[in-house]
Amino acid sequence: MKAEKSSKDSGEPPSAHPAQGLKSFFSSGRGFWHDVSDADWNDWRWQLKHRITTVEQLQKFFPTLTPEELAGAKLANHKLALGITPYFFNLIDPMDENCPIRRQVIPRVEETHTANWEMSDPCGEDLHSPVTGLVHRYPDRVLFLVTDRCASYCRYCTRSRLVSNASGYDFHPEYDKQIAYIAAHPEIRDVLLSGGDPLLLSDEKLENLLSRLRAIPHVEFLRIGTRIPIFLPQRITPELCAMFKQFHPLFVSIHSNHPRELTTETCEALARLADAGIPLGNQTVLLKSVNDDVEVMKAHLQKLLMCRVKPYYIYQCDLIAGSAHLRASVRKGIEIMEKLRGHTTGYAVPTYVIDAPGGGGKVPVSPEYVLSRNADRVVIRNFEGKIFEYPEATDGTPLFKAPKEIEAAELV
Ligand code: SF4
Repeated sequence: MKAEKSSKDSGEPPSAHPAQGLKSFFSSGRGFWHDVSDADWNDWRWQLKHRITTVEQLQKFFPTLTPEELAGAKLANHKLALGITPYFFNLIDPMDENCPIRRQVIPRVEETHTANWEMSDPCGEDLHSPVTGLVHRYPDRVLFLVTDRCASYCRYCTRSRLVSNASGYDFHPEYDKQIAYIAAHPEIRDVLLSGGDPLLLSDEKLENLLSRLRAIPHVEFLRIGTRIPIFLPQRITPELCAMFKQFHPLFVSIHSNHPRELTTETCEALARLADAGIPLGNQTVLLKSVNDDVEVMKAHLQKLLMCRVKPYYIYQCDLIAGSAHLRASVRKGIEIMEKLRGHTTGYAVPTYVIDAPGGGGKVPVSPEYVLSRNADRVVIRNFEGKIFEYPEATDGTPLFKAPKEIEAAELV
């Protein structure tokens, strides 16, 4: 179950700084599946077919399951299904109860505790859904949900009400109706395919959907939101990347939360997407005892850049029912942002957002850098805490106004 390769195994010197260890690339290894052929292991359909989905499988592969995890696993399939690909399972440290990978995919009994302020649809998506599977929350863009299935299931999933169908939501996207709505609304210039995970669809289905969307003249921009490069990098085949090339501009937003998720396999899969000309962004969810630590978060964001991925958002964990044990505080999120801006490459600094409960949309949250402001000046502080004044320009008029006679001459 240990990683196949590490800097230790390869004879490289140990890292002097712990962050260097976090930023090293490791393979997931084969673990329990050591006798599986390369062809099977690298086949995404084999990985899906051999997912861990039952309590019995989990106990077999994971004898160090805690009582809280065992109870959670027994109840999971009534709320959000248990599902972990063999590849991703190998990233779990079975000896560490607080392993950041383990906390994301192994159910816990705390998922059955719902606080008063928690909701089944915390972003109010169902309220903004004119057609099944389409969320039209913002003026010029839509969320196009194409499936309720994922390669593995994240225990804090915002869409756990519908994803995996464990709660009986019975989600059936109607592509014809979704596409007809987009075609009938010329204000929609941006379509984000999500789910569930769109990359679980076959190449043929994806190509069909992307072609139909590309044929709508006012759709300028296509995006896919996916966690597949993290859970199932084998799915990012050369054929898939070649197909995607027909649909530029097509962006892909991945979802990675911890540097250990960025393995050699994931890095190679992301390189295939980047080589196909696809701009890559990442969305991270701030999670307690997973990435609510400045050094872990910084190493993760820097490692994303090494994988050619621009960190896009850090999300405050939504108020999803049963997620309190995974939710870090906003205070911690702001503290992390404070220690990123100015302290590392600007490209590595994402926007920290709270999706306003009930459907208010994304609200950026940031440390305060503007200390005061009036008609004449702005007082700001930098990342070191030093204070500066900046003279304010007068709104509506240029700083250097041309003399009247020149203006008149130009009008002739
Ligand atoms: S991959 Fe995305 S949609 Fe699927 S369970 Fe995880 S967060 Fe939810």
